[in-house]
Amino acid sequence: MHGYQFSASQEEVLVQGPRVLVTGATGLLGRAICQEFESGGWIVIGTGYRRARPRFLRCDLTDEGAVKRLLHEHKPEVVIHCAAERRPDVMEQHNEAAVDLNVHATSMLAKEAAVCGSLFTYISTDYVFDGRNPPYGEDDSPNPLNEYGQSKLDGEREVIRHCPGAVILRIPILFGEVETVTESAVTSLWLKVLEATEESCTLDHCLQRFPTNTQDVATVCRRLAERAQQDPSIRGIFHFSGKEQMTKYEMAVAMAQAFNLPSNHLIPLTELPADLTSRPVNSQLNCSRLELLNLSVEPQAFTAAITDCLWPFTADKRWRQTVFH
Ligand code: NAP
Repeated sequence: MHGYQFSASQEEVLVQGPRVLVTGATGLLGRAICQEFESGGWIVIGTGYRRARPRFLRCDLTDEGAVKRLLHEHKPEVVIHCAAERRPDVMEQHNEAAVDLNVHATSMLAKEAAVCGSLFTYISTDYVFDGRNPPYGEDDSPNPLNEYGQSKLDGEREVIRHCPGAVILRIPILFGEVETVTESAVTSLWLKVLEATEESCTLDHCLQRFPTNTQDVATVCRRLAERAQQDPSIRGIFHFSGKEQMTKYEMAVAMAQAFNLPSNHLIPLTELPADLTSRPVNSQLNCSRLELLNLSVEPQAFTAAITDCLWPFTADKRWRQTVFH
């Protein structure tokens, strides 16, 4: 069914407290953001689309009327806009639908947030950069190499056009608590690690990545929102990133080592395959703006954080007890 279908519950209206509207609340990052704001005492209004029911509101953000009703009915103090098509290959194949979500829906949300006086936070990506001259500061010129990066950059421009007081948070490749290992490009590597009994398995060892924990991004979003409510200078572009530079090959080896599994079947691929040439080689983000404002978080070490995410997908669930206790 199309559009926005829930109205605020009476209970929600009666409860006093700051309200945050999180789009993409069913997604990898949105789930972590909802949890973080909830535990920080915020009233969270989460929206999803296909996976929305029963926990979240169902709202097709490409439906202009639905977006208007959503914002005007809830009048949140803060909007965190996570919903997007973020898979570069899907973006190339279903370009019109993806642009509709990444650009037009963003534009409508930013416009309505400005009308309602909500602080708008747009989640963007390191893929706005070409990766040829890292690290990238907030003021460096974007030059996306693929449709996904271009659509997110177009989204940023719509946000600035309609909502000059908005915050744009650029982040790199994410991992976190996943519903299935394939939900994140990082946890997907677990499947390669488990192929130890099969033939050898090649993994990219060219593209430099900075895997970033959704929990850390969520904390940064809450800190930004809380500070911005008191300080109007908190606006514009911010960068946040994990600190460990790794290729996918290195991430997979780290996972294997963390679980005492063999890694000698993993073969580093040192020449970039043709299907990856439209990805930035190294789009490292300089995060000093957030750090100077004391709004950043110190990321947990990759090995510890990824172990927490993967243990539910290990064959032997007793493993966790034997390691942590
Ligand atoms: P995700 O897991 O793919 O979630 C996408 C979300 O968008 C889901 O909640 C989905 O709802 C919602 N959605 C899809 N179509 C919609 C529509 N027509 N109307 C309303 N909602 C719709 O994405 P993510 O990984 O959490 O990414 C969050 C943000 O971080 C995105 O802006 C992305 O560009 C950015 N980012 C992600 C990464 C990464 O590695 N994942 C890296 C850098 C930046 P349903 O599932 O309920 O349909």
